[in-house]
Amino acid sequence: MRAGTVYLVGAGPGDPGLLTARALELLRGADVVLHDRLIPFEALRETRADALVIDVGKIGGGEQVPQEATNALLLEHARAGRSVVRLKGGDPFVFGRGGEEAQLLIAEGVPVEVVPGITAGIAAASYAGVPVTQRGMASAVAFVTGHEDPRKPESSVDWPALAAFPGTLVFYMGMRALPRIAQRLTEEGRDADEPVAVVERGTMADQRVVTGTLADIAERVQEAGVGAPAITIVGPVAGLRDELAWRERRPLAGRRIVVTRARPQASGLAATLTDLGAIVTQAPAIAIHPVDVELPDLTGYDLVCLTSVNGVDRLFELVRDARSLAGPTIAAIGPGTAERLREHGIVADVVPARAVGEGLLEAVAGLDARRAIVLRAREGRDVLPDGLRERGVEVDVVTLYETRPEPLDEETRAAVLGADWITFTAGSAVRSLVSAVGGADALRGGPKLASIGPITSGALREAGLEPDLEAAEHTPDGLVAALLG
Ligand code: SAH
Repeated sequence: MRAGTVYLVGAGPGDPGLLTARALELLRGADVVLHDRLIPFEALRETRADALVIDVGKIGGGEQVPQEATNALLLEHARAGRSVVRLKGGDPFVFGRGGEEAQLLIAEGVPVEVVPGITAGIAAASYAGVPVTQRGMASAVAFVTGHEDPRKPESSVDWPALAAFPGTLVFYMGMRALPRIAQRLTEEGRDADEPVAVVERGTMADQRVVTGTLADIAERVQEAGVGAPAITIVGPVAGLRDELAWRERRPLAGRRIVVTRARPQASGLAATLTDLGAIVTQAPAIAIHPVDVELPDLTGYDLVCLTSVNGVDRLFELVRDARSLAGPTIAAIGPGTAERLREHGIVADVVPARAVGEGLLEAVAGLDARRAIVLRAREGRDVLPDGLRERGVEVDVVTLYETRPEPLDEETRAAVLGADWITFTAGSAVRSLVSAVGGADALRGGPKLASIGPITSGALREAGLEPDLEAAEHTPDGLVAALLG
């Protein structure tokens, strides 16, 4: 990135997967990020820990930071020699005042680079199953915006010309303007039966689409309570949605599912569920905290047992010489732990068919080990070390990390209680979540409970709750398969 440069970057319409590679690269390198409100918040997680991140969007749904204040910030940081990302929703040059900001910066001699983004009018339409052009149906498309306030004269919108436009019309306007849009277009000669699709929160997990005709769309949208942000698509192509809606066809479409894993582990499960169409809430009721330990010399053991992905990560933070892992037999509790070992260049010698302590014990019991070390969480179960000791093995248990309850904010708590499913991948997460929602009663009769396996199910029963589903294969993928069941 160039110091003293302002990058006008489009963040796309909301789905973080629609950020461009260039946008991500610049976000990761920027000294300063000035962003609007309508951007995927995941984008901000990409920024450097020491980057200055400033929200210049609407404050509390009302006042916008004045454009002059934003301009002043852009100039100030660029002139101080910082690399500045000005992040805008959709495309920076489509109804985003990006053009005006570029004019100002160039006039002031500040170097500018523009990174296009996918504009909401195209992205929301695609995610609703509406192609904005289609052979034989629409060979042109117009993007339109105007006053949000229906009482103000719409001098900026030429209704007769729009009504006569030979193609699809895409309106970037609030829902308050919709009755007037529909009315003016029909008055000026557009067919009252022309299909219309309104896409609320386009491309986001909880996107909603309302369809109708110019004659009835305003009423339908009002009935559905559609709010901001929303795009209105007018034209025969809007009628293709019935055939082409693809998001609604995904296997978990619209299902609200809570992931209770701690953040670093949650992303994989959350991403898989999101891809399948679920509306995922991450409620990390537990957080992983590393424990300060001196790792004993591993060459002194003939069996090293790893009981979680976290344990593997922590092991490789602590191990000074990878060759100390060359001698002992390495046992992993399940495929996830084995996979993480593989990422660190170690192929596990033993991976039991059942990913629980008992399974691991069975799998290593036959080995001719005399000294074993079990690397695990503080609150880990004792099945494995006890079982090994019973078989005459000398066992050291070393705690590499501990899991601690994480409080949930009000919004997350409400999302948890309103969900269709809560997934649990560990007993500790059960205990933490139950306490975070204020006791098991809050969960009774509400969301269904999905458990990764018998140990987690046991923790649910101990809390007085019955799992509605238990995965046959005790891995995150197994849990997903069970939900798809
Ligand atoms: N530069 C942006 C548009 C900014 S104007 C772009 O290129 O997309 C803001 C308007 O964009 C909103 O009022 C709404 O009409 C539309 N919009 C932005 N994000 C949207 C989304 N995810 N779904 C539907 N409409 C959206």
